[in-house]
Amino acid sequence: MQRRMAVLTLLALMFPTPAAAQQRSRPGQGRQPEFPPPSITDYKPRSTLVVPVHLVPRAKYPVIDIHGHPPALLSNDVIDRVGRAMDALNLQVMVNANGSSGDRLTSQLAAVRASRYKDRFVIFTTLDLRNVGPGSGAKIAAQLEADVKAGAVGVGEIMKGFGLYNRKADGTRLKLDDPELDPVWETAARLKIPVFIHVGDPSEFFQPLDYQNERWLELALYPNRRYQDRSRFPSFEELMAERDRLLARHPNTIWVLAHLGWHANDLARLGRMFDSLPNLYSEVGAVLYDLGRQPRNAQRFFIKYQDRLLFGKDSFQPDEYPYYWRVFETDDEYFDYYRDYHAFWKLYGLALPDSVLKKVYYANALKIIPGLPRSGFPK
Ligand SMILES: [Zn+2]
Repeated sequence: MQRRMAVLTLLALMFPTPAAAQQRSRPGQGRQPEFPPPSITDYKPRSTLVVPVHLVPRAKYPVIDIHGHPPALLSNDVIDRVGRAMDALNLQVMVNANGSSGDRLTSQLAAVRASRYKDRFVIFTTLDLRNVGPGSGAKIAAQLEADVKAGAVGVGEIMKGFGLYNRKADGTRLKLDDPELDPVWETAARLKIPVFIHVGDPSEFFQPLDYQNERWLELALYPNRRYQDRSRFPSFEELMAERDRLLARHPNTIWVLAHLGWHANDLARLGRMFDSLPNLYSEVGAVLYDLGRQPRNAQRFFIKYQDRLLFGKDSFQPDEYPYYWRVFETDDEYFDYYRDYHAFWKLYGLALPDSVLKKVYYANALKIIPGLPRSGFPK
């Protein structure tokens, strides 16, 4: 026993603080691999971990996908093909968030109504945010009102070009909180339709492309996701500040932030936004990698903000939806994600309670989108 105490004391002297421990040389430090190290795209280690596996090909409850990007719903063939994929996944309703206005909206609405999936699709309209100048706001608001009259049940997806690329008629960048657009957001509030908006991209896309960047691979693969050039792009925080001013200036508008506002890696930040903005909602499209790496924290967040979170998927790849069901419904551990350039890590299930699943899957969407079909959901 005494000897054990002595060893512990010795260890305490050797590792007085974590920082000092880092400076100490470790066994094997400085050794070089005997073989050329693989590149990060080549290294795909087989996991030897054996744990329970619960695949979820079909969601436990009917789901509304508020962030759908199906092909244009213009023919029976396309509508049937997408509809059959939805049946298998238990996707009850898909919001076509491609943003369709005018003839493109009405022709898709007509095709859906004539199909056997007429209760399974709704369509959001889009806003023409190019060359905004004096008078644009009123014009865009009028188009919005006409599209809603024609059958659109929301606005969006307003794409990330708004904030990153769109220029005003005078050549300057169109800021998210430009007052010219106030009539548009107020019209949406009056019509009681949600505004579904995608602002920016993950914060790492605005950071230097170095080996500390956790999105290095994606940035190396996609030149158009690099926003490091401050002469062309605002910083991440500048964009988010514009967004936050926009949301705060229109508290009666129902806002839905795409991709958890790109704060899935800092859920407490999104939580503070929910706390201060009662009409703010958000959806989970394309950020599953961030939820699945923090299952306990994310579960607490989903329980706390269960009335504000919506399901959305983004790109329409039917085989990817079951990854979402598995993360939300199970407590499985250390399983693969579907896209290696989003995340080089594994996912863990959040095991959300049924009452929370129902809200995220459909009840919150039914609450904020009055124009959704109501049939096909549990009472
Ligand atoms: Zn989208």
